[in-house]
Formats: sequence, structure tokens, C-alpha cells
Amino acid sequence: NEALKENEAKSVSSVTSSRRRSVLPQDMSKPVNKRLSHAVKSLDMVPKKGKFEDTNRPNKQFYQMIEEFRETLEVLPLSLSDLVEAHRICVCVRKRPLNNKEVTKNDIDVVSIPGNGTLLLHEPKQKVDLTKYLDNQVFHFDYSFDESSTNDLVYRFTAKPLVQTIFDGGMATCFAYGQTGSGKTHTMGGDFSGKSQNSANGIYAMAAQDVFSLLKQRRYSSLDLCPYVTFFEIYNSKVFDLLNKKAKLRVLEDEKQQVQVVGLQEMYISCAEDVIKMIEMGSACRTSGQTSANANSSRSHAVLQVILRRRNQVHGKFSLVDLAGNERGIDVRSSDRQTLVETAEINRSLLALKECIRSLGMDSHHIPFRMSKLTQVLRDSFIGENSRTCMIAMVSPGMSSCDSTVNTLRYADRVKELNGTLKMND
Ligand code: ADP
Ligand code: MG
Repeated sequence: NEALKENEAKSVSSVTSSRRRSVLPQDMSKPVNKRLSHAVKSLDMVPKKGKFEDTNRPNKQFYQMIEEFRETLEVLPLSLSDLVEAHRICVCVRKRPLNNKEVTKNDIDVVSIPGNGTLLLHEPKQKVDLTKYLDNQVFHFDYSFDESSTNDLVYRFTAKPLVQTIFDGGMATCFAYGQTGSGKTHTMGGDFSGKSQNSANGIYAMAAQDVFSLLKQRRYSSLDLCPYVTFFEIYNSKVFDLLNKKAKLRVLEDEKQQVQVVGLQEMYISCAEDVIKMIEMGSACRTSGQTSANANSSRSHAVLQVILRRRNQVHGKFSLVDLAGNERGIDVRSSDRQTLVETAEINRSLLALKECIRSLGMDSHHIPFRMSKLTQVLRDSFIGENSRTCMIAMVSPGMSSCDSTVNTLRYADRVKELNGTLKMND
């Protein structure tokens, strides 16, 4: 039986991998996202073994198909020495490693990152006649980070180039987007080991560090810039101050359409350690009073802003946003009203965000920031010639997250469609 199985597998792989080889490389160089489907002959005629073997077989078979596919891929991972390009709108994707829970549940990794901004999703599918096949979809982004990428590497290509922008009098935004558990907070806020957070290696802290190193540079020291930080949460269209015991704040718009969050604490910072303390304080405040670690914080957007003031006027502002989970698969029957309202609000704000970034990319004069509280509060970051944005779409690698991953990738893809790819000249 074993021998039969092996022969079967060999003949399948020799047929399919040669086809894949000829199809894939040329397809991946195209700028449009493509879908490549391959039927793989079913191995179902092989006699079944024990019960355990049976329950694992579907994943095992897909696992083998994906591994075979990977053997045909040319992998060129991003490295610290690669050139950082300047984008007005930068959209990237980051894949986290499979976690223990996924491994225990025999989940398999269905995402490949060959490098060069490319991501491949190997979506396991089954035909009506039960033939299993992979629906291989190719996506292209400005950068793609694989599961071995560190926060350092991600930072270097995403938020780091935006620090300069706020010194040059511009506005910058950086968003972490994705389903709950995909790594948004890990990327922005830093590693968690057990209950403690190592904020120093998150993008928030790394950006703060670079703000202080630029402040010391001679060309900026003469500007007399003062750095401040704010940290707040938007939950169900309401704003809460994470640096002031979750005080509920009002958002007002004056006659010049300037949006103000009334009473938001703006803390003066004198060094990067100050910021780290505030990140920790605010993060603790964000998750306090919750039953499970990820319950409520995944339903809110957290915004950390570094503001540079010159003679009390805002010179530049960098908003770093850990977005609410984008999961849509909420069961309408089993969810309570509160959850449904929350979900509708999250969807609305993520849709608004996409539209605002797209308008920015098209140099449109109409930016639909009023569509949600999130975009309203970030309004000043979307306007002006000198505003730049970066979105990091996080994906979980597991087959069980496939639907969410498809949603995330399509969203990220839409953010930069059309002329969002405008390159900066500097
Ligand atoms: P989210 O904020 O998107 O809900 P988290 O950042 O809380 O997700 O990540 C969920 C879990 O996965 C955490 O335990 C986190 O430490 C872990 N994790 C996320 N990204 C990575 C990564 N790139 N490498 C290792 N562990 C990660
Ligand atoms: Mg989170």
C-alpha cells in the first residue's frame, strides 16, 4: 500500500510541477493579481489506514501539494541591505509563522512569500467529484515579509521612511490591518512573551527612537521642534484616551473643518524611553477590564501619534494605527446586538479608510473622511501634498484562516489599485 501511494504521488507531482514551472514565473512578473488553478488527481483510491490517518488525510494531501509547489518557487527574501524605495502610498503584506495552536490542530501553512513583493495563496479546494486541488492566487505588493521577518526588517521598509516626512512638515500614517491574531499588535506594539510586552521592538517604539535621532541632527535642531505623544482608542465610534484612564472624549469639527479631539492628553516626550513607558501604560489601559486577552482590543482601533510642534503649531504628525480585526465571519444568529453593531461599525470604518487612501492616491480633492470616526480623526493626515501613508496587511498562514486571508489580500490590493502607485521623485 505504501509503495502504491508513493508511486501515485510521484506521477501526480511530475505532471503538475512541470506545468506549474512553465506557468508560474511569467505569471508572477505581471503587475496584476492572478489566479492559477491546478487540478491534482485524487489519491482517494489508496486504501485507508487507521482512524487518525483518515481525519488528517485531507490536510496532509494539500500539504504535499503545497510543498511540491514550493519546490518550484524561486525564493528571494527581502534583506536589510535591500534598497528602500520612496512611496507616497506603500502597501505591504506580512505573514506570521504558524503558532502552536495551529500546529496542534494539524493546520497547514497555505501562504508562500517568494519575495519581491509577491505573495502566493494556495487555497485548498475540492471539486464536486471530490478531486482535491489548489487554487493558487498570486498577489503583488510593494513589499512582502515572510514568517522569518523581524519587526526590525518590517519597520525599515514601512514606517521608517515616513519619520522624515514629519520633519519636513508633512503628515504620515501607518496602518496595521488584518484579522484578529494575524500579528497587528505584535508588529506595532512589540513582542509579547506571556503577559509582558516588549514594546521596544515594535514599530511604535522604533519610530519614536528615530524621531529622537533626527531631532539631534543639525539641520533639524535649528527648527526648535518639540515632540509630543497621544495614544487613544476608537471603539464603536467613540474615542477613549489611553493615556488618561480611558476618558471618553468628544470629537468636534470647527467651521474650517478642523477636527479636534477635545481634551486629548498630549504628553511631552524627552526621550524614546518616555514613549515606551506611554506605550506600555496605554496598552495596559487598552486591555484592562477584559475577560480574555484579545476580546475587546481586537474590536477597537488604537492610534498612537507622534506630533512635532514648532512654536506651538503642528509641524508634522505621524499616526500609527493598530486597526480593529477585519473578520467578517460573524454569525448573525448567534451574535448579540452589541456585537453586530460593533461589526457594522468596524466594517464601515475600514471601508472609509480604504476610500480615503485611494482618494489620496488619486490626488482627489474630495476625501470622504466623514464616512467614519476613524477617518474623521485622521483627516489632517490625508490632506496636503506632503502626506504619505503605509499599510501593512497582516495574514495568518493557516488553512483555517484562508477566507480571512483572501479578504485581507483583496482589501490591500484595492487600496493601491489605479494610480496609487505614484512614485515620489526625491
Ligand atoms: P492581532 O493584534 O492582529 O490580533 P497579535 O499581534 O496579538 O495579533 O498576534 C497574535 C499572536 O501571534 C501573539 O501571540 C503574537 O505574539 C504572535 N505573533 C504575531 N506575529 C508574530 C510574528 N511575526 N512572529 C512570531 N509571533 C507572532
Ligand atoms: Mg491586537
